[in-house]
Amino acid sequence: MRVAVASFEFEGNTLSARLHRHDDFARKVLAEGPDMFRAVEGKPLAVTGGIDRLREAGLEVIPVLVAHGGSGGRVEDAFYADMRGRILAGIEGAMPLDGVFLALHGAMVCETMDDAEGDLLAAVRALVGPGVRVAASLDLHAHVTPRMVAAADILVGYETYPHNDVYTTGRRAAALLADAVAGLIRPVTRLRRIDALLPVLGGATRDGMPMARLRETARRLEQAGRALSASYFPVQPWLDIPGVGIAAVAVTDGDPATALEAATELVREMWDRRREFELPSYPPDQAVRRALSLDAATVILSDAPDCVGGGAAGDGPAVLAALLRIAPEVEAVVLVVDPDVSRAAFAVGTGAMLRTQVGSRLDPRFHAPVMVEARVESLHDGAFFYDAGISAGTPGTMGPTAVMRCGGVRIVVPTHATYEYGDEQYRACGIDFRGCRLAAFKNPMNFRNLLGPGIDWLAIDGPGPTTPRLETIAWQVKHRPFWPCDDAPEPVFLD
Ligand SMILES: [Zn+2]
Repeated sequence: MRVAVASFEFEGNTLSARLHRHDDFARKVLAEGPDMFRAVEGKPLAVTGGIDRLREAGLEVIPVLVAHGGSGGRVEDAFYADMRGRILAGIEGAMPLDGVFLALHGAMVCETMDDAEGDLLAAVRALVGPGVRVAASLDLHAHVTPRMVAAADILVGYETYPHNDVYTTGRRAAALLADAVAGLIRPVTRLRRIDALLPVLGGATRDGMPMARLRETARRLEQAGRALSASYFPVQPWLDIPGVGIAAVAVTDGDPATALEAATELVREMWDRRREFELPSYPPDQAVRRALSLDAATVILSDAPDCVGGGAAGDGPAVLAALLRIAPEVEAVVLVVDPDVSRAAFAVGTGAMLRTQVGSRLDPRFHAPVMVEARVESLHDGAFFYDAGISAGTPGTMGPTAVMRCGGVRIVVPTHATYEYGDEQYRACGIDFRGCRLAAFKNPMNFRNLLGPGIDWLAIDGPGPTTPRLETIAWQVKHRPFWPCDDAPEPVFLD
């Protein structure tokens, strides 16, 4: 029994100005053929979980390609076409096959295509024909489409947010694929979507939050034998494209009606709990003042509108500006991506003073840059490895990174934006954020990985490509009314 395996992961954001090309993927994970095994082996990635589980089932695994680009705006059409062509050629070269396993994100958008995974899965299906089983693992923020469901036999999403079950999700999808290939099950997958989006800030699957309840419901559906797998998709909300909405997917053994019923129950619960997803957030100045009034030794400021993991450029200086205005002498650390300032800091060297504008270099639409007069404290190569999460074990590449000090405020200035899981970026510069009274992070969720005794947090709102206030976005393509811009007593189903 032979299964071809590929992974092409990218989270799109149509409000972001970033365009991801070959180099942006090459800086993360990009490998083809047997090199793919070397790139992912021993790392807790979804594709690795899939490979491990398929091998445990005694299946021969044929490596095709792995390409991980993290998050951004859209993927360049030409790069997508290249990867798609290589994946299809690799699968074709491996045929005859019994199955195909794909580790995907599910919310990739290209320059001229909004449903990249639908396109990819449909092309794979057309190539292998109806008799070959196709399974995919997905991110919890996937934009699952009818086209994806029509092309795949099995779709399984992450259970957790912050995402720390990526490897086991790959295993769960692969376990169903192995059973299907062995003829033990005849998987049928159904999708149900509601015309609503949910703020990411309230989407944690821990601490008695609404997503924790959803997780319990999904596991209950499985334990009761109503689904082989049930997944909830609160969806990447910064997608101004048609048909985007919160979703649920259920896989059953040859029972489409029960799959649809289970998916409906799950997505309906997400809708019913929609108000529970709304958490308080504050404009930057107010957030800094409020943070200083808290008892905790360290307060994390979650710069939600400039979340790199959600697709933003990470160059938003709004928190830096607030720190310099409200608390310039308070020990604080903040990160602002700015290739020009990093280059200038390397040019003048450690210890030198630099008077420069910082931020809004890559995406100037939301804030003015901030003028600072700062001492270059240290210079770094910006290389690190992720400890855990969706990128566990893979390299992060900030590029040349300067640490500058302005009063109590340390400004970490990388060349490239990098996804934040924990505090890898600060540690790569020798900074322990726990030594600071205020520490800013460019994510609305993963900072929760850092919470512990003496550490509190506050979320910041305002304009940006990942603003937590979805109702402030000037939606161009997605038609209102929809929650949370508008309310309705009953959900509007999209399918
Ligand atoms: Zn996600």
